[in-house]
Amino acid sequence: MRIARFDTAHDDVGPRLGLVSDNSIIDLAAHAPDLPQDLREVLARGSVARERLEVIADRGGPGLPLAQVRLLAPLAPRKCLAVGLNYRDHAEEMGSAFPKHPIVFTKQVTAVQAPFGPVHLPRVSDQLDYEGELVCVIGRRCRHVPRERAAEVIAGYCVGNDFSVRDWQRRTGQFTMGKSFDTHAPFGPWLVTADEIEDPHGLKLATYVNGELRQTSSTDKLIFDSYDLVTHLSQAFTLEPGDLIFTGTPAGVGAASDPPRYLRAGDEVRVEIEGLGAIENRIVPEPSATAFID
Ligand code: MG
Repeated sequence: MRIARFDTAHDDVGPRLGLVSDNSIIDLAAHAPDLPQDLREVLARGSVARERLEVIADRGGPGLPLAQVRLLAPLAPRKCLAVGLNYRDHAEEMGSAFPKHPIVFTKQVTAVQAPFGPVHLPRVSDQLDYEGELVCVIGRRCRHVPRERAAEVIAGYCVGNDFSVRDWQRRTGQFTMGKSFDTHAPFGPWLVTADEIEDPHGLKLATYVNGELRQTSSTDKLIFDSYDLVTHLSQAFTLEPGDLIFTGTPAGVGAASDPPRYLRAGDEVRVEIEGLGAIENRIVPEPSATAFID
């Protein structure tokens, strides 16, 4: 199944979930009003909610044209974890040795953005960069998950872009600030459930800036794959439904060019992953409305 969160300009129902097939979307607010219209809660309900969705998906039926809805971030995560230097080709372009342990950092959950939403060029930096990534979405509460059972706790996968502010990322030994600017964690365009993906570690990934191919790789080049990451992370803390893991980016980031090619206002950045779809974000100057005290 492909589970999206969306709203429309022509009704006032507000954000709700939908099942995507071909070019239409079945509105779950209409077809499953008993289910929470929040994907994190749906995942937390486990197999009962999942089977209900499968019945609706199998039945099919009239949907809204996909072109008439606005896709939103599929869910609001409680954790947004990310991994640095996790592709062999990216480690090589950076002249770095392969890490012995996953380099884990967090993106603040306030950085989450819609799959086609605008991304801010920060007021305080001109070193905005892209990182096309496979995003793994946790489906079950878990701790100390052995690798052979890791697939059981993964609800599915999304396409993500781990936007990075390089000068802020490198200023100190900690990545958090440079990885967490508001709008810098777009993902989507929907959750593709894990059963639809034969092998999550054999998917082609491509990133384009204004139509120019900048990153092309495959998730088979991950140093620590999704299952390794679930095992590693869950040794330290509980993973919960809706937690995101941005699994790392392959070669071809702007910072690795000589001279570096950072993003500018007006640029369009598109990330595609085979079997998952694509997200596309326009870079805009950080609006004045970002300064506020409520
Ligand atoms: Mg990254």
